Amino acid sequence: MTPQRIRTAVIGAGFSGLGAAIALRRAGHHDFVVLERSPDVGGTWWDNTYPGCRCDVPSNLYSFSFLPNPDWPETFSPRGEIQRYLRRCAEDEGVLPHIRFGVSLDRAAWDEDAVAWRLQTSDGELLAERLITGTGGLVEPKLPEIDGLDSFAGRVVHTARWDHSLDLAGKRVGVIGTGSSSIQVIPELAKVAGHLDVFQRTPAWVLPHMNRRTSRLERALFRRFPVTQRADRAFTTVYMEVGNLIMTRRPGLFRTLEAISRWHLKRQLPDHPQLHAKLTPDYRLGCKRITLSNHYLRTFGRPHVELVTEGMVAVDAGGITTRDGVRHELDVLVLGTGFQVTEMPAAARVVGRDGRTLQDVWSGSPEAYLGTTVAGFPNLFTLLGPNTGLGAGSIVTMIEAQLDYAVACLDAMDTHRLATIEPREDVQHAFNVDVQQRSQGTVWLSGGCSSWYLADDGRNVTLWPDLMAAFEKRTRAFDLTEHVTTPADDVAARPEPVAV
Ligand code: NAP
Repeated sequence: MTPQRIRTAVIGAGFSGLGAAIALRRAGHHDFVVLERSPDVGGTWWDNTYPGCRCDVPSNLYSFSFLPNPDWPETFSPRGEIQRYLRRCAEDEGVLPHIRFGVSLDRAAWDEDAVAWRLQTSDGELLAERLITGTGGLVEPKLPEIDGLDSFAGRVVHTARWDHSLDLAGKRVGVIGTGSSSIQVIPELAKVAGHLDVFQRTPAWVLPHMNRRTSRLERALFRRFPVTQRADRAFTTVYMEVGNLIMTRRPGLFRTLEAISRWHLKRQLPDHPQLHAKLTPDYRLGCKRITLSNHYLRTFGRPHVELVTEGMVAVDAGGITTRDGVRHELDVLVLGTGFQVTEMPAAARVVGRDGRTLQDVWSGSPEAYLGTTVAGFPNLFTLLGPNTGLGAGSIVTMIEAQLDYAVACLDAMDTHRLATIEPREDVQHAFNVDVQQRSQGTVWLSGGCSSWYLADDGRNVTLWPDLMAAFEKRTRAFDLTEHVTTPADDVAARPEPVAV
């Protein structure tokens, strides 16, 4: 059977995939489908349901600029609120009929003869002339490499795959990891667990959380006078850009924030000075993701909560033994150990012109042009691809910028009757040389920590080493001469795309 042929396939219905669907529709490209493996939209905000999960970026900025929500109940939203926002965006923008829920991508291979991506999905085969991956970076859980983890007899749960049937009341719970997810879940676990052991390898810099409930007045103001919400967003953007400026050019200036974090620690644990040193990082603030909490640090003052800083040696059926020979008996193990991030989850499944996957081409150290297009992978757009993450700010801003560039490519294809477009290899190379040069002075390389931002070869492959505004400027300046294209007239005649 001939597979259905469509103009564009989008993989994922999180912020980036939905953003793509909306941008396509608004730009008049109606022939597209979105494949989403989950039963609803949301991406990371659908997957992550651990207690305490919320966004550490203010919602007025962490939302589409073209779809503001005047009704955020809190300034930093919990995950459910964000998921509902995305659902509303999908409904209001009319993209729901384009989404095939419960369908996952197994493989996407460029078919030179069909001049299209041949997609093998859990729901059969598809031909898509253009492929947009919106598969995010923080998807596949990373499990810690600790001897005997498989032998643990109790329940093991990763923060990103929370099991709500888990009854933790009165249980002895161990948490491995003290990153952004753990910092949110630990205070919640402490409320119910009988005993809580937190296994910390590296402490995080924790700053006071400025979250608050929004007032009826400000919500009415935002609704009535949208300019006020735009002003609020602009203010937060500037504040974040100052953070980006410091992270990328003057990391030393973060000493002030380190002082605030130390002050916060002392205030949160005034009666436990013996814990202060253990909870104080020895690397520059910003080197790892900065965390925000008014509850995390004070949790260690509770009598049933223990901070374990001795390294873990082994896990057995009943608990964890640490280097000092102490055995910590546990009923449940919570893994807050993060994600496999340096490559997009789809990298192993996307096969380019020469038969190699993105994963093969990248070999653990990915690069793209503007994080979005890759030489040798025609008509492919990788949202939240290499170097599109941020030290401070909102990835939604980056997604929108990538979409401006992607839509400019698609429009150029239509205007100039092009069958394929991809970046020139030399342009992509020069861009990445520049990204790596700019990365040299950043806190991520010089801050004295190891983080998921860096690939094994030490390159910064995840973060944009400049201002969000600089990325927006680069992506807006679309230049067809930076790309290799094939005129549509040069490719063999093929069936017209079938509208969905
Ligand atoms: P993460 O930041 O990668 O933290 C993983 C934690 O697990 C670290 O403390 C790490 O210690 C520890 N760990 C990993 N392997 C270990 C091992 N073998 N033994 C001991 N400890 C181990 O992961 P995450 O907390 O899930 O956060 C990931 C990213 O998700 C964040 O950086 C952020 O971008 C995003 N996130 C965002 C929000 C939000 O509010 N927007 C919330 C949650 C997550 P080391 O530091 O020593 O490696």
